[in-house]
Amino acid sequence: MTTKSHYISHYIGGSRVDSDEAGTELTSPVDGATLGTIHYATTDTVDFAIDKAKTAFSAWSQTPVKDRVQVFYRFKAIVEREILRLAESVHRENGKTVAEATAGIQRGLEVVEYATASPMILSGEILEVSRGVDCTVRRFPLGVVAGITPFNFPAMVPLWMFPLAIAAGNTFILKPSEQTPITPLLMAELLTEAGLPEGVFNVVQGNRETVEAILDHPDIQAAAFVGSTSVARAVYQRGTSHGKRMLTLGGAKNHVVALPDADIASAARNIAASVTGCAGQRCMAASVLITVGNCNTLLDALKEEMAKATPGETMGAIISRRAQERISGYIDRAVRSGARLLLDGRGVSVVGKEKGNYVGPTIIDGVQPGSETACDEIFGPVITVLHVNTMDEALAIENASPYGNAASIYTSNGAAARYFEHHANAGMIGVNIGVPVPRDPFGFGGWNESRFGAGDITGKEGVFFWTKAKKTTVKWADSGPRSWMS
Ligand code: NAD
Repeated sequence: MTTKSHYISHYIGGSRVDSDEAGTELTSPVDGATLGTIHYATTDTVDFAIDKAKTAFSAWSQTPVKDRVQVFYRFKAIVEREILRLAESVHRENGKTVAEATAGIQRGLEVVEYATASPMILSGEILEVSRGVDCTVRRFPLGVVAGITPFNFPAMVPLWMFPLAIAAGNTFILKPSEQTPITPLLMAELLTEAGLPEGVFNVVQGNRETVEAILDHPDIQAAAFVGSTSVARAVYQRGTSHGKRMLTLGGAKNHVVALPDADIASAARNIAASVTGCAGQRCMAASVLITVGNCNTLLDALKEEMAKATPGETMGAIISRRAQERISGYIDRAVRSGARLLLDGRGVSVVGKEKGNYVGPTIIDGVQPGSETACDEIFGPVITVLHVNTMDEALAIENASPYGNAASIYTSNGAAARYFEHHANAGMIGVNIGVPVPRDPFGFGGWNESRFGAGDITGKEGVFFWTKAKKTTVKWADSGPRSWMS
């Protein structure tokens, strides 16, 4: 295997690696400019990467955790030094604005910070369980593990996974989205610069076949996945059918409920930011607004706030022409079925970026709760508005969604907020917050069809996902009263 300049490479065994698979040209969603040629890994390339990771595991897993985390102290400083270069890479390949890309990387760095606390998290437990008998719990790494990630956060979502897995002593194979394969390569180089031994972190580029080769490989012990629900379900089933530990996060349809006592100006700003941030391509984006009682002033204010999001300037691009057409298709069908558009984001072309993919902010009003715009994940800067008379009606709509990532309420009534928190059927709840991401040390994870497997992907449960506990029972003393154990 050799390296060629136009290749979007793999990163295996501490350096960029090109292989001879057929290539696909990658273009930027910002303006259609060519980014390079991506070559999807064949089974041979996947085997090669896993072999390198397996070789690296013996030394890395034996390196004391206090030494392992030193790499992540250095990595954090290096990423901060290179943050603009990384953010620009995310901007070019994903389409979000440089400011959004920077924020995503900074959020990912919180997980790196948490990973540096691994000596505290993995420090184990000990208890005298019977006279003269101690039981200890120590956590061990699993071996070679994998992460499979989506297009919408090319830096942040991998950063949810590999710092915790690697600090815990595992070696890692990352399969990024084939739509955003470049930033993970930059991170791989920065990890090497930070002193991570070769083979501990590897990137293989590819698509479905590559993922399946990873999941079917007997040396992969566990895999985390983030992406759409249908793929999350299939990946979970395939991995667990081979006896692997799996955690797969899926799509979302997040509801925000506004009560008449909400602070209108602040709620409108907040909901607009949630809908239009990352052009709606995030799993925590507000997607359905349910107004309880009369909320006309909120709708007017929301329209005003959302209209400020300018495609190609303050709001980024849509990942592909296909995705742009899919989003516009939802809006077309909603209109045909009698919906009212308070804002219409179809047909946007940005001057100087005509080959980019853009959808403007869109508000769809007047649809039924069971309609496709009210139920499907649209994954664009689009919000559907539903109107009800009581909080319980709003909760019934939210509870009926098969997803369960986030749900938010806007109110100035603490008791109403508490009622919502207890009855919403989602893993991450916001009160007057439109993107209720639990920041570290709290773990990130939804419910229902937004997650398959147990536990959160970050926080303490993330560390536990990448480790296995060994319980040792020890008796040295041989004096004193006896019990059945001694
Ligand atoms: P996707 O499911 O199309 O792809 C995700 C990954 O799976 C990619 O690496 C892709 O190559 C791979 N893949 C695609 N089809 C596959 C198949 N049939 N078998 C095996 N692997 C396959 O998702 P996407 O379009 O890249 O990302 C957007 C989706 O991700 C949205 O649904 C969004 O809600 C979700 N997402 C969820 C979270 C969360 O935390 N729950 C976070 C970010 C994104």
